[in-house]
Amino acid sequence: MPHRIRDGLIDYLEIMQIAGVSELGPPVIRDCVSAETGTVLTETRENPTTEIVENQTEISELPDKNIETIDINKNTENTENNINIKNIEQIPKTKIEEVIQEPLISMSKSKTDRLQKLAQEVAQCTRCSELTLTRTQTVFGTGNPDAKLVFVGEAPGADEDKQGEPFVGRAGILLTDIITKGMKIQREDVYICNILRCRPPNNRNPLPDEADHCKQFLDQTLEIIEPKFICCLGAVAAQNLLQMGNTIGSMRGKIFRYRNIKVVCTYHPAYLLRNPAAKKQTWEDIQLLMREMGLTVD
Ligand code: SF4
Repeated sequence: MPHRIRDGLIDYLEIMQIAGVSELGPPVIRDCVSAETGTVLTETRENPTTEIVENQTEISELPDKNIETIDINKNTENTENNINIKNIEQIPKTKIEEVIQEPLISMSKSKTDRLQKLAQEVAQCTRCSELTLTRTQTVFGTGNPDAKLVFVGEAPGADEDKQGEPFVGRAGILLTDIITKGMKIQREDVYICNILRCRPPNNRNPLPDEADHCKQFLDQTLEIIEPKFICCLGAVAAQNLLQMGNTIGSMRGKIFRYRNIKVVCTYHPAYLLRNPAAKKQTWEDIQLLMREMGLTVD
């Protein structure tokens, strides 16, 4: 190579070296933070770009747990709060919505829905062949699904059979007076039902097998409402609920228990219409019930 050309080439290489350019290309000056250690990695020929890119790719592919650990260490000092945040972030969004919505739905709808479902089942019931033929309709029950107190009567009469609601005739008006004027609560605050859900012909007493057949519907109703107190109205209700053969006269004035529910027994309002003198004893029974319920007795 002629001297002139060789000297020119040497000069060129010296200039390129001063400028920081080598025959391998310009030096690399990009930095990248390591996902694992948090240290700064400088890209060099010995530490090629592809390796760092792989690390960066791994950040998005790391399990959620690892990403959260990095965030907690880097961003805040309040570890307790971060653990909460971490836990929430680990639940997919749809799951959080389910957790929030499920109890609200079941709280607002379950008892009413379950009672309605049971009432539909009762409306189709044909277990008591005679009653199925003679009834106009079944009479399920009415009142507050969250009631603390459930009144249990004997069976629907002619008015109830016609209207499909328990205690709507003259006896029903007297029961309403006992609840509103005597106990000073609203009829809508309690739940009212009967041992039987079908009217026996000519208002005869329920037969033992009819009461047995219908008992499961009463038990299911009580399971849904979960009352703290039951007031049995009349001998048929008291004897069938408590499975006792005693007279109503001997059962009144006492506290019984049925499935951990406190039970008070008194005369049926229909009996009080025929025997007004018995209203005094019924008022005593209702006062006993009120004291048990923590209501003020005048
Ligand atoms: S009284 Fe009760 S068990 Fe008998 S047919 Fe009516 S709903 Fe069914």
